[in-house]
Amino acid sequence: MTEPTPTISATRAAALVCILVALASLGCQRAPQQPAPTILLFVADTARQDAVSAYGKATESTPTIDRLAKSGLLYRRAYTNAPWTLPSHASMFSGLFPSEHSVGMTRTLASDSLDMLAERLQRAGVQTLGMSENDWISDTFNMTQGFDHFVTVKHRQSLAVFGRGMTELLKLRDPTRPAFVFVNVMDAHGPFRYQPGNPFLPSDFSPQRARAAADKYSRSMCSAEDLSDVLATVRALYLDGARRADEKLGWLVDELQASEKRRLITIATSDHGHHFGENQIIGHQYSVREELLLVPLVVHGLPDTAPTTIDTPVQHVDLMPSILGWAGVAMDERLARRRLPVANTGGVRPSILAEFSDTAENVKGAKAGMLRLLGLARKRCLPEHRVFGNMRALIQYPFKLIDYERYSSELYELSSSTDTRRDIQASKPEIAARLDTALEELVSSFEPPPGDPVEVPPVPSEVLERLRALGYDLGEENGKGELQ
Ligand SMILES: [Zn+2]
Repeated sequence: MTEPTPTISATRAAALVCILVALASLGCQRAPQQPAPTILLFVADTARQDAVSAYGKATESTPTIDRLAKSGLLYRRAYTNAPWTLPSHASMFSGLFPSEHSVGMTRTLASDSLDMLAERLQRAGVQTLGMSENDWISDTFNMTQGFDHFVTVKHRQSLAVFGRGMTELLKLRDPTRPAFVFVNVMDAHGPFRYQPGNPFLPSDFSPQRARAAADKYSRSMCSAEDLSDVLATVRALYLDGARRADEKLGWLVDELQASEKRRLITIATSDHGHHFGENQIIGHQYSVREELLLVPLVVHGLPDTAPTTIDTPVQHVDLMPSILGWAGVAMDERLARRRLPVANTGGVRPSILAEFSDTAENVKGAKAGMLRLLGLARKRCLPEHRVFGNMRALIQYPFKLIDYERYSSELYELSSSTDTRRDIQASKPEIAARLDTALEELVSSFEPPPGDPVEVPPVPSEVLERLRALGYDLGEENGKGELQ
């Protein structure tokens, strides 16, 4: 949906909604005299919390995020709503759960009827600029709705090429308007590669050994082999990717701080995590375990907000209403309730929900499956690996229920004093039943997903090529639009 110019009546209606929301003590966050801020949403694709040194499990991998976290908000329990790029971004952009927007669940083309974050900002007069190194976030899949300018570029550009591209994009900046800048970078995404100067490997580490480890890793889904050495090397390659993603964020924050005459609010997160052999799982998608769902989330630059580590569990669907609020854009009460807490005030938050749909099997005509490794993995993986098939995770902290289409459900306790990988369903059946009811109630409250016909235009061959290079095998026929 694209409506760049708000009508007077729409503006008045928006103001009225804002007043009503304020009366409900939820507040409209921007004082009228303050100029609207510029907001940067930066996604370090695939970066897990433990790749970000601000979270304390890596050393100096992400100095920029660490610096922002120190004088901003760090969300310790931030969750994505889906374990892979397309549905995860669709939830960030629409404020809807995957089953509601259906992108990456039963279709790959985002519906025009979704009212995306950038569209809402654009209607409110915000200039919207985007750059993505990930082809899922592109015109091809209608994920650029509402952006005045959006470029999708080759993944994993060098810092210099990234800087040149962003400089070109920012030349289009209209300083008379506030801006929303979205950026996705792919440095921490596989396939993992050795780059000279990797500070997480010994200086004499052989590039061939790194390549061999990455290759072995990519073929080890559901393997019972001891992969400790391989995983240690791959993790070092991954950390170096997170470091390079963070360098891009550093460049961008410096650039915007120097050029913007407005307050800069920066949100740094990732779209999902990754598996490094936990439960013998490799890669991402097809699981809703903590390794894939817990993401870094840091917010910097909010006015009148004390630096804090927020313990309240939050999720990506909370981002859209939060960004609208920080931009001073009115929203309805349902959305306003979802805004991220900016202090540890307690209170009941909505349940966290993450969903995965096994697109390869559920989408008519999809031939080859989503990942090249799946052909082998589907034969090798056992029911105890709990991969593939549709699944949903519901979290009411500290408990997490995973409801599988193909397997019996699991219950986990996530508090730090417990073994968060031990299924406790048998010992706590009443909690499992409570979460199961909550999950059913939540999902049955969803509006039906957009029902417009899905006419997928042919996916350009260079896009297919790049997605294949990332491990997404869409099948030979996909260029004809079979995978919806
Ligand atoms: Zn991703």
